Amino acid sequence: MEAERARRFSFAAKPGSTPLRIARSEGVWLYTDEGQQILDASGGAIVVNIGHGRREVAEAYAREAERAAYAIPPFATESRVRLVEHLVDSWLPRGLTRVGFTSGGSESVDAALRITRAHFHCAGEPARWKVIGRDLSYHGTTLATLAVGGHTKRRAGFEPWLVDLPKAPACYCYRCPLGKSYPSCGVACVDEVEAAILRAGPETVAAVIAEPIGGSTAGALVPPDDYWPRLADICKRHGVLLIADEVMTGFGRTGKRFAVEHWGVTPDILVGGKGLTGGYAPMGGIFATEAVVAPIIERGLEVMFFTYSAHPASCAAADKVLEILERERLVERAALMGEKLGKRLARLLGHPNVGDVRGRGLLWAVELVADKATKTPFPTATGLTAKVVAAGIAHGVFVYPGGVDPARDVITFGPPFTIVESEIELIGERFERALESALERVHR
Ligand code: PLP
Repeated sequence: MEAERARRFSFAAKPGSTPLRIARSEGVWLYTDEGQQILDASGGAIVVNIGHGRREVAEAYAREAERAAYAIPPFATESRVRLVEHLVDSWLPRGLTRVGFTSGGSESVDAALRITRAHFHCAGEPARWKVIGRDLSYHGTTLATLAVGGHTKRRAGFEPWLVDLPKAPACYCYRCPLGKSYPSCGVACVDEVEAAILRAGPETVAAVIAEPIGGSTAGALVPPDDYWPRLADICKRHGVLLIADEVMTGFGRTGKRFAVEHWGVTPDILVGGKGLTGGYAPMGGIFATEAVVAPIIERGLEVMFFTYSAHPASCAAADKVLEILERERLVERAALMGEKLGKRLARLLGHPNVGDVRGRGLLWAVELVADKATKTPFPTATGLTAKVVAAGIAHGVFVYPGGVDPARDVITFGPPFTIVESEIELIGERFERALESALERVHR
């Protein structure tokens, strides 16, 4: 009966399986209907950066919903004006002064792609439309964002609808796609982005899009320090816009307000989502320079909004989340606790099936392999990642599944920034137990 009811709110995947029912959540903890307490080691889908159960955010949302339930996006509301000023004055990299909002990450990347195209269309360079993405990347699940992304599993079956766009290799040092190793490689993978621009014809390329630190596709792919400054330079030389997709990394997740700050790079467009409201409201943002927007305004082109763009209550929630991050110095805390989580996870490297542990701030991933010497993954049919996640829930820890070939089995960690040391230790212990249970099932 329960499974039958569950089917009603599930479009696909695992028919008949009963979803976990969450009754409430508090801090880093989820509580199920049955009273089980689960440590949310990934803040859901790497979203909940200030932790669950913050009454003042819920109250800010409710107050605004009562005061101004809805305003068409071309209008302004007080909560929106406050949020825009807050972002431009205290959060965004200097130079990003144009702000738009949507209902989430995919919509924001989609809007960034349209703004990119509108920019060149209005600037008298209509031949520029291609956007170069990278392998092992994710930029969202609308058709345009799937097309620029390199998430083969999520693209599968939709290819006839996906525009064929050039891809550069991922920056994935554990299994370098170019067969090189850092630092002797000279970060050759960033030169491959330039090679992709040249192959496509620079006069036809509008933008390069990349996650500053790869999210959960291949698991927290941290590039060498010179990757992003060189990427910015390549884009500049070819008159191509640089779009940083910070939907997962933004708003403090990697220990800086935005991951591009690790390398002093300001992109032409920065996209945010998840952490902007920390899960309290569905919202994303597009942040651009004046130069990106100027030709569009000059030509008077209208870039269509979404009905729920800049939703007043979502703006109020986001503004309160930013205030809490500042007041409790949570970005600094993400850097500090991130080092501790990284050290705890690095202890797993002694395990025969833990191939790599990588990350920055509070975004970490563990890559699992069948054979460490050869880095051979487990067979696809093993479904190891799903087994580890299920075992994690049974042992009281939620970890986020990732992984796309050749990074087949990847578990991502991204707890709320409020996490304390004893909870980090619990993540380590419970994950170790989950891994053992999953491997026992595999070998049985
Ligand atoms: N871009 C990146 C880097 C992401 O990690 C995600 C989601 O995981 C998205 C875009 C899509 O965001 P959403 O799921 O909010 O549409």
